[in-house]
Amino acid sequence: HHEAPAVTLKITVNSPEQMGELGRRLAKLLRPGDLVMLTGELGAGKTTLTRGLGEGLGVRGAVTSPTFVIARVHPSLGEGPALVHVDAYRLGGGLDEMEDLDLDVSLPESVVVVEWGDGKVEELSDDRLRVVIDRAVGGTGGDAADGAADEVRDVTITGLGARWADADLASLGA
Ligand code: ADP
Ligand code: MG
Repeated sequence: HHEAPAVTLKITVNSPEQMGELGRRLAKLLRPGDLVMLTGELGAGKTTLTRGLGEGLGVRGAVTSPTFVIARVHPSLGEGPALVHVDAYRLGGGLDEMEDLDLDVSLPESVVVVEWGDGKVEELSDDRLRVVIDRAVGGTGGDAADGAADEVRDVTITGLGARWADADLASLGA
């Protein structure tokens, strides 16, 4: 018995539009029961990525940053899974609030995307896609053809668990 190796892809994203495109590509790899955790500071682009993902999945309603809502369900417009978009920023570390969301109930039928979920949602599943978005500070600077320097993001995508062991993450960077 051994753990499945983690699969990792690192890519550079140069604009909000490219982040949306990454989300649309990512949607093609996802299926019901998948848990995606998004890590990155405020303004990194977590919600922008989720918006593209929702477009790629073909779900109802625009993905936005919820101000008061912690979890929003976007039903599929077709045959695909629903998107459950969670912003766990205001959730304490306590399990009670997490449990009230019943993510374990919705997960098998849905793609669950959680912003700020580190330390809060890991026990939902051993199989997780972890997306870390970093502002690429101190990089090569602005390149007019490639967008402004402050729009550059380093994105690291890691598949954890058997679900992702054979996943074609490289297709996301193509
Ligand atoms: P988060 O959910 O991580 O707080 P948002 O997606 O809500 O972040 O906001 C990201 C902001 O940064 C948006 O205003 C977006 O236009 C801007 N932005 C600039 N460059 C990028 C990029 N490469 N990817 C995503 N968002 C970017
Ligand atoms: Mg957000």
